[in-house]
Amino acid sequence: MIIGAGLAGQRAALAAAQTGASVAIVSKVHPVRSHSVAAAGGINAALNPEDTWESHAFDTVKGSDYLGDQDAIEIMCREAPDEILWLEHAGVTFHRNETGHLGTRAFGGASAARTYYVADITGHAILHVLYEQLMKHAAQVDRYEEWFTTDLLQDDTGRCVGAICRDLRDGTTQVFDAKSTILACGGAGQAYKPTTNGLIVTGDGIAQAFRIGAKLMDMEMIQYHPTTLVGNGLLITEGARGEGAQLFNAEGERFMEKYAPNKLELASRDVVSRAEQTEINEGRGFPDGGIALDVTKVPRRRTLEALREIVNIGRDFAGVDITREPIHIRPGQHYIMGGVKTDVDGQTTIPGLYAAGEVACVSVHGGNRLGANSLLDTLIFGRRAGEHAGRLAKDLSMPSTPAARVADTERRIRDIMNRQGGRRVSAIKDELGETMNKYAAVFRDEAGLQTCHQIVRRLKDEAENATIDDRGTVFNQDVIGALELGYMLDCAEAIVVAALERKESRGAQSRTDYPGRNDEEWLKHIDISVNGGDVPKVSYSPVTITKWQPEERTY
Ligand SMILES: Cc1cc2nc3c(=O)[nH]c(=O)nc-3n(C[C@H](O)[C@H](O)[C@H](O)COP(=O)(O)OP(=O)(O)OC[C@H]3O[C@@H](n4cnc5c(N)ncnc54)[C@H](O)[C@@H]3O)c2cc1C
Repeated sequence: MIIGAGLAGQRAALAAAQTGASVAIVSKVHPVRSHSVAAAGGINAALNPEDTWESHAFDTVKGSDYLGDQDAIEIMCREAPDEILWLEHAGVTFHRNETGHLGTRAFGGASAARTYYVADITGHAILHVLYEQLMKHAAQVDRYEEWFTTDLLQDDTGRCVGAICRDLRDGTTQVFDAKSTILACGGAGQAYKPTTNGLIVTGDGIAQAFRIGAKLMDMEMIQYHPTTLVGNGLLITEGARGEGAQLFNAEGERFMEKYAPNKLELASRDVVSRAEQTEINEGRGFPDGGIALDVTKVPRRRTLEALREIVNIGRDFAGVDITREPIHIRPGQHYIMGGVKTDVDGQTTIPGLYAAGEVACVSVHGGNRLGANSLLDTLIFGRRAGEHAGRLAKDLSMPSTPAARVADTERRIRDIMNRQGGRRVSAIKDELGETMNKYAAVFRDEAGLQTCHQIVRRLKDEAENATIDDRGTVFNQDVIGALELGYMLDCAEAIVVAALERKESRGAQSRTDYPGRNDEEWLKHIDISVNGGDVPKVSYSPVTITKWQPEERTY
């Protein structure tokens, strides 16, 4: 059983089907509406003969601020070229250069231009091709589209044996028995406001795994993308800077010269976001709170060919023609490096439960993900999880959870519908998002994180009694919103607890009260696990270092 039909889930389904397994893939939205569809700039691989997987791996390790596990990073970067070729052969129309070869663009933190792309709709292009492949395997892969997973199931030994799902069309609830279960539910961006992530990215998989005892890892590492629209947080892809767009403060200074003299706008994301936030905090931003991204540095023809989606976004959401004038942007919440702790085959700390994609933490991104490494992560580790889970399933008999087990879930949903007098779900969600964006953002400190934690705990209490309007059964998105709020709150608390715990600055965790990186004490992962209803438990695990010893990180 695969929960989630974005790139990780669909790739896992195809790989599992290839092992001969019978597969069910569940998604709360139609699969091609999964958030992977929004991925814009591209996917990394050292496919050019002049490039090497070692160079890609080193850039990734350095980008992660040495928190990424190097065995996993090696696997991802070694397997990347074959994955691109597989996608191309399956039908993804990657950009070709004037010689007819696959063409690349530059991306942040990379020492070579190794990002393969389809204009600025790369996720859209790949997702649709995978969906075609899924339909080709329809005999083996059953698709449950617009089904919502509410809970993961365990047997008496603690093994994960499937999940409970609600059919959104009519509100019925069913047990799904599974020999192995792969979570591919995406990230948790909606715990922040604003975010580049769509409304469906609510941390369901992270929270559901956490609730049955799976360990989460690197949860403090939240990526703020350097170029999101002031106000609404929509993403302007890093592909823009890859094509040559530049950043300026309100004084007209190309300020990245101060912060990253070698890589400038193409330093890694944490570095660029901190630089922008520093400029804004020190009064060199524009009155609207932003910084200028000047895409006019890119030849207009090239922008219209390779960045056409952000031309539309600029026009429709900011009233700016980016081919003729700068657009105002600022750092905005974009990605979670942490997630459900897995090994390199996607196995979590719960037997029978796998995770892949943004829901998971392998950890290939460590403290900071390089742009265009996430699509790669979803595909490589989605495939590996699918293969492993498919093979495992062959030697197992089908579990059988009593259908009566749905009674608890149904009761919970009835209780939500019957609540009276509490705050509205949407009001709690807004306060959560704004709180996280204030205190657990680009810069953090002890006092702010403590305040944030107190607010999250209060919101958790309020969510217990949060009210909704719709009491029907057909496409009741109100009920789903109430369940999602609970998942986001669990994720938020895990993020804050981990951020409080890490008393240093590394990658996306920039503590003004602990400004330096401290390898001696903090070159380790922070693991978070459930503790009843209390504050989650913290433990540590080692970082795997193979070839690259930590050193000072400059760009
Ligand atoms: C605007 C934007 C642009 C990006 N551009 C790039 C890029 O150019 N390159 C790059 O490498 N990365 C990029 N990223 C990051 C990347 O797109 C994501 O990290 C990645 O696509 C996540 O894929 P996924 O398969 O893990 O999850 P998703 O694509 O988010 O899929 C999650 C799936 O889980 C399902 N689901 C969730 N909860 C439930 C539930 N309770 N029950 C049933 N189903 C559920 C959803 O329906 C969906 O099918 C971008 C991200 C954003 C937001």
